[in-house]
Amino acid sequence: MNNQLKQNQLVAPAIGRFAPSPTGPLHFGTLLAALGSYLLAKCSGGRWLLRIEDLDPPRVIPGAADTMLRLLEQLGFEWDGEIIYQSQRYERYQQVLERLRGDGRVFDCSCTRREILASAPHPGEEGPVYPGTCRNGVCGGRAERAVRLRVADRDIQYRDGVFGEQSQNLEHDVGDFVLHRADGLFAYQLAVVVDDIDTGITQVVRGADLLSSTPRQIYLYQCLDVVSPDYFHLPLAFGDNGKKLSKRNGDIGLVTADNGALMLWRALEFLGQSPPQEFLNSTPAELLSWGRGNFQPVTIPAEDRQIRF
Ligand SMILES: [Zn+2]
Repeated sequence: MNNQLKQNQLVAPAIGRFAPSPTGPLHFGTLLAALGSYLLAKCSGGRWLLRIEDLDPPRVIPGAADTMLRLLEQLGFEWDGEIIYQSQRYERYQQVLERLRGDGRVFDCSCTRREILASAPHPGEEGPVYPGTCRNGVCGGRAERAVRLRVADRDIQYRDGVFGEQSQNLEHDVGDFVLHRADGLFAYQLAVVVDDIDTGITQVVRGADLLSSTPRQIYLYQCLDVVSPDYFHLPLAFGDNGKKLSKRNGDIGLVTADNGALMLWRALEFLGQSPPQEFLNSTPAELLSWGRGNFQPVTIPAEDRQIRF
């Protein structure tokens, strides 16, 4: 049943995307998302778009996006259409925020983080659950800081292509969440959904660290009257220190043009594919070609694992 449903999600040509943050060099963890999203889109006969998530200027490293794009090219990835940069889309995010405001879906919030911590009903997985303090207006004389989306007290359910049935009650587990931050930046949840809608994305493939964001994004789709895409969350790779492999954790798992083929081979293996041993000596392009011809989404393991380099 599970496998059959997963297969059905691949019947129509998908429009997928890879959406890295330019906060450092390409790491094995990011390569998994690039490879998984690329192969899932391509094996459905679909398109693969690229988006640079440079929403948060202080975290962006100048030149990192270009370096990553060059490396992806060297590894043989080919994307469709123009690259989208979130930093160029603030007006569009504002437009959608205003629409949600017009629909009565959002409200201004004057709470500080400390206040929310102090009055939260219980700790949520990603910080305190917003207690709803400003739902009916900010207290007299206080300046609004953030804009929050009013959530509903019902379960958001979906079937992830890798991790299976998922369900979350936003009111209980998250609370009304931020779309526009106190520091003036748009929240990741809003930007991702607006970008995916505007580019017609039908298939979202990304790391399992974003599993818990997905119900919020599906709820946003519902608020905007748009059908949400299919989701495939990929298992996370952990280093020896038990931490997710990422640019924040040093040079372990760094992908370069020189080790690209080996990294792709290992990424295919990590995603539950069985690349032949002799392909260890092939070029990145040959490995991607093998992946396009042999990728089996149903064998992606729903389990985070440690990997050694
Ligand atoms: Zn508030």
